[in-house]
Order: sequence, then structure tokens, then C-alpha cells
Amino acid sequence: MNRDFLEAACVECPRGCRLSIRKSGGEVSVSGAACPRGEAWGRRELLSPARVLTGTVRTTSRDMPRLPVRTREAVPLEKLLEAARALSSIVVSGPLVPGDLVATDFAGLGADLLATAELPPDSLP
Ligand code: SF4
Repeated sequence: MNRDFLEAACVECPRGCRLSIRKSGGEVSVSGAACPRGEAWGRRELLSPARVLTGTVRTTSRDMPRLPVRTREAVPLEKLLEAARALSSIVVSGPLVPGDLVATDFAGLGADLLATAELPPDSLP
């Protein structure tokens, strides 16, 4: 996506500053940010927007059939739908704790997939 102007709410903290981000002559300017973190976010949002993907994957557990997960790194926005679909091909078994690696280079996006909840070991039949 190639844009020269964008208005967006900064998502780096709950304050949610309204930013105006403009590209002109190769320079990006950000107004409305209350801190440098928001300015950096605004630049990224205009030039290469990305989001951390959250979702769930299937498990082999009868007691907990879905495990919440998230990517460690932000995924380019244009790849987010493809990444969300790829979650359906993953099946995990416990034990896992929050932060454990579920998949490396998830969906070929260079992002690791992490558990965000505890998954106990499968109980015996
Ligand atoms: S610009 Fe700074 S203060 Fe405002 S929402 Fe973003 S991170 Fe928070």
C-alpha cells in the first residue's frame, strides 16, 4: 500500500493520540503525537504497517480444545489474513506455558508463534 497521508489513532499506549502522518519529498512528518514512541509508530504505520496477530490453534486436549496464541513479531498488514488462515493448520499438545514457542517462522512470515495460555499435558484416556 502506497500512501502519502494518513490519519490514525496511535495504538502504542491507551492514550490513543490522533496522529496526522504525511510523506512529502521522501520525508515523513508526524503531528499530534505526545511522545517519540508515537512518532515512530506513525512513521511505521504510513511506510510499512504491521500488527501482532492473535488467535487460537487446535490442541489434542479434550479438556482445552483451543489454545490462544500470538506472534512474537508484528506481521505486515497485507499478510495478516493469510497468517490468520494458517492458524487452522496448527495442532499442539501440552504441556505448554505462556511464552512457549508454538511455531518458528510461522507461515513463512519470519514471525514466531507463541502460546499465551497454559496448556496442561493431555490426560490419559
Ligand atoms: S503518541 Fe505517545 S502518548 Fe500518544 S498514544 Fe502514542 S505512545 Fe501514547
